[in-house]
Amino acid sequence: MAPTAGGSLAHPTVGGAFTSPVLPGTGWPGDPADATTPVAQAPADVAELAADASLEEVTARSAVCRACPRLVEWREEIAVEKRRAFATEPYWGRPVPGFGDPRPRVLVVGLAPAAHGGNRTGRVFTGDRSGDWLFGALYRAGLASQPTATDAADGLRLQGARVVAPVRCAPPANRPTPFERDTCAPWLDRELSLVLPSLSAIVALGSFAWSAALAALTRCEIDVPRPRPRFGHGAELRLRGPGGDVLVVGCYHPSQQNTFTGRLTEPMLDDVFARAVSAGTRVSRPTSGR
Ligand code: SF4
Repeated sequence: MAPTAGGSLAHPTVGGAFTSPVLPGTGWPGDPADATTPVAQAPADVAELAADASLEEVTARSAVCRACPRLVEWREEIAVEKRRAFATEPYWGRPVPGFGDPRPRVLVVGLAPAAHGGNRTGRVFTGDRSGDWLFGALYRAGLASQPTATDAADGLRLQGARVVAPVRCAPPANRPTPFERDTCAPWLDRELSLVLPSLSAIVALGSFAWSAALAALTRCEIDVPRPRPRFGHGAELRLRGPGGDVLVVGCYHPSQQNTFTGRLTEPMLDDVFARAVSAGTRVSRPTSGR
């Protein structure tokens, strides 16, 4: 891990003294890893460490992964340089694992952590405007304990929902390469396979998330139609999962580009989550035979 510049800094809520990037097991709120967590250094390591891992192990192991050289360099560079508004804060600067209920009804799939959001706070969609929109909608849908997400010690709990990024490290210009997407896929596949039995809906935030979710579902041996349906806001796809039907819903990503321009509004976001929540109230099929 690259050395921090400017020494250690205090976390805005819990204090202490943290390097940027944060070393595993040094007390960062919610850090699932410690100094003994195995570190993936290459794509083959990701596949090996994700296979047969528990949800806790996927969360911890992915949070120390170093398999994508370009992303490791970028996330750590951002952590050291920082944005002026956060110059006095330590930056997480590591991969951002899935967050939320270990037995979710609704899985929210995003793209990748934001450079000064999740890459700073260590929690997905936390600390930026996109997260304000997402967690506000989850709160209104009864899936979150509070409407705001400022840092990893803010007390936010998700009830019946989980949020995950198909690429767990902040990419330059929010654009991961196909190599980075594919290298990170075993983390997503394993996490998805572990939560699938309780899932009744997946909300895909944007076309990248839609494609990543359908590809992961296919790798989890869920029958996804070919050709794969195209992404659109409000697009729906009903699949047969191991625990009953799973509704996949497309939703514009709550990026500032979409929310500032009115392409995505709060009522549009609320409608998507209302559909996702109501999918869970439908009668599930018996699990026998699958
Ligand atoms: S993007 Fe995924 S596979 Fe690549 S370094 Fe980050 S966590 Fe590892």
